[in-house]
Amino acid sequence: MPARAALRLSARTAGCLERLGISTVRDLVRHFPYRYDDLRKPTPIAELTNDGSAGSDGSPEHNVLGTVVHFKHIRLRGRIRSKTTATIEDGTGSLLAVWYGRPYLGNQLAVGTSVFVRGRVDRTLTGVTMNVSKHRVLKPDERFVGELVPVYPQTAGLTGYELRRLIQAALRLVAADKNAKAELDPLPASVDRAERFGDAWRALITIHKPATPEQAAAARRRLVYEEFFLLAIAAARRRAERTGEAGPDFSSLLRPGEEEAFRAELVRALPFTLTRAQERVIGELAADLRRSSPMNRLLQGDVGSGKTAVAVAAMLLAARAGYQSAFMAPTEVLAAQQFNRITGMLSHAGYSCALLIGALKRRTRENILEQLRCGDLHVVVGTHALITEDVEFARLGLVIIDEQHRFGVLQRAALRAKARGHSPHTLVMTATPIPRTLAQTVYADLDMSVLDELPPGRLPVKTFVRGEDAKDNVLAFVRSEVEQGRQAFIVCPAIDESERALHSAVKQAQELRTSAFAGLQVQLLHGRMTSTQKDDVMKLFADGFVKILIATSLVEVGVDIPGASVMVVLDAHAFGLAQLHQLRGRVGRGKHRSYCILLTRTLEDAERLQVLVRTNDGFAIADEDLKQRGSGDLAGTRQHGGHELRLAHLIHDYPVFLKAKKAADAIVRDDPQLMRAEHSGLAAYLAAHDREAALRLTS
Ligand code: ADP
Ligand code: MG
Repeated sequence: MPARAALRLSARTAGCLERLGISTVRDLVRHFPYRYDDLRKPTPIAELTNDGSAGSDGSPEHNVLGTVVHFKHIRLRGRIRSKTTATIEDGTGSLLAVWYGRPYLGNQLAVGTSVFVRGRVDRTLTGVTMNVSKHRVLKPDERFVGELVPVYPQTAGLTGYELRRLIQAALRLVAADKNAKAELDPLPASVDRAERFGDAWRALITIHKPATPEQAAAARRRLVYEEFFLLAIAAARRRAERTGEAGPDFSSLLRPGEEEAFRAELVRALPFTLTRAQERVIGELAADLRRSSPMNRLLQGDVGSGKTAVAVAAMLLAARAGYQSAFMAPTEVLAAQQFNRITGMLSHAGYSCALLIGALKRRTRENILEQLRCGDLHVVVGTHALITEDVEFARLGLVIIDEQHRFGVLQRAALRAKARGHSPHTLVMTATPIPRTLAQTVYADLDMSVLDELPPGRLPVKTFVRGEDAKDNVLAFVRSEVEQGRQAFIVCPAIDESERALHSAVKQAQELRTSAFAGLQVQLLHGRMTSTQKDDVMKLFADGFVKILIATSLVEVGVDIPGASVMVVLDAHAFGLAQLHQLRGRVGRGKHRSYCILLTRTLEDAERLQVLVRTNDGFAIADEDLKQRGSGDLAGTRQHGGHELRLAHLIHDYPVFLKAKKAADAIVRDDPQLMRAEHSGLAAYLAAHDREAALRLTS
């Protein structure tokens, strides 16, 4: 059910919910609290400690229950309008409670009434004050009963109170609808028995309104399990489905002597000797390609680990089996660079290759399309121009997607759909290492290959973390490197000054052109420039004409600039660790010692960034990043998995995942179509989920 219609929400409220990723009633009941305010136990005033020290529930707020002995209401000028103070006594001491902007309080408070107040406390020599965030005025003879109040991820424009009310309303709506209620439990009874879980509905009600922390924890246990279970079921089913699909016929690769012939051709094609990691991964790919079901493999390898050579080996195999390959890259400059390299290698082995991008003369384009259609062309490298309708292949057998996180699910699927009569082998490549736990959960339906070794002779980038005060020195260092013939990146978190108080590319370019970098060729690059402008600047930089590129994080994927030896990141704290690692990969691609200097403002940030100084291992950094940020906003998880992790934490709850996966795999193995009676609840759950996903795509 769309939440807006079912709950009769205003457009404004619906908009707020949308920002929280909530568009249906099911989303709303699955918007989970991340902690609870414990209003159950008041603290005696005499025992109150200062603000900042944690209360009993781990929040910096305290509860007090007492009697009003005096109160005052003051009108203020300005935005807040009023201030109310009340002196409250509880037999152990007295406290001054303060409210701002609550004009109606004057009618609620009276000398002698009992009140419950909660807020941050400040104890000074003159007494204890509390900045009240929650309060309740008790009726005469009412006994105070506190509860656990859920605290939810929030967004501007919607108060915690409103959100709690909406969630409770959504729960009532579901409770009244038998079907909707039944579709909320994905777990088969066998799992409930094995894990000793209670009822699904009870868990949902409880997580939003537990009586005790223990109850909340038990409810959370079940809900976390559910999330992992759904992910694991989806992965197991995708895998099962694919094993049943027909792949392209690569059986000629099984001919005697073929292996040796391929090896010889590969050696002829490559201008270098493969690293051991490349050898291993090519072996993994070759084994996939010799099977009858289509390959679906993710190749992870840090920037510079040599993924392109691995892709070339796979395309050679496809060509030898009589099939065409398509290689898709996210930008025109990148596609052009990859095309140059790939052609260089494949032409040695006698195979043809073309570049297909948006900016081609009509003639050239039609020529390429014709060659693809009749099968003369072995390999095509391109941008998303490859997925336009008029691109047809005679025999597409292999699809390779570079920097896969830059593409959406639909774009990847569109390219795969160009193969006729079978599903093509698919290799997706990424330089962003996926943390181990994530790889096994969200990406469980893909096979993984990892290039964990860099080609020899590469000097690791030296990384430093420095305070803002070092900026002038750092810029002087950049200048001296440039004067020795090198190039540099200056990366800023913002485009222009409209974006918060961070260094912006536009302003830095203006300033530095006339100060630290006066007389040097400086250019600006950011996402609001047109793609032609961006390509032009990148070409000038790649050709060595431009010496310093002042850019946003746009440059995290990009062409090889062997001359670039320095990267300075301003306000480095504004970036995630994995992203900084990615950015740093832009330098250190030539023969000179390279440097990455991260400028930041606080000691705390400097501390957080130290892991980048300590290690160059992308996986270690990705794991650390996941620990620091939690699993909430990991790129692509929602897109890939279809089911979200709203409650589960990939690292802390990992043991639960292992259990859920075991159960899910067993279920899909025995009953892949989920036809059995005991899986009907799960099937209904998934059907409801799919219906709503479809609804989301169309609305
Ligand atoms: P990635 O795409 O993984 O970031 P590339 O495929 O662009 O890495 O390779 C980075 C650089 O390393 C390229 O200049 C490439 O020619 C070179 N390279 C790749 N493999 C080897 C190898 N085995 N030995 C030497 N150089 C290599
Ligand atoms: Mg690459």
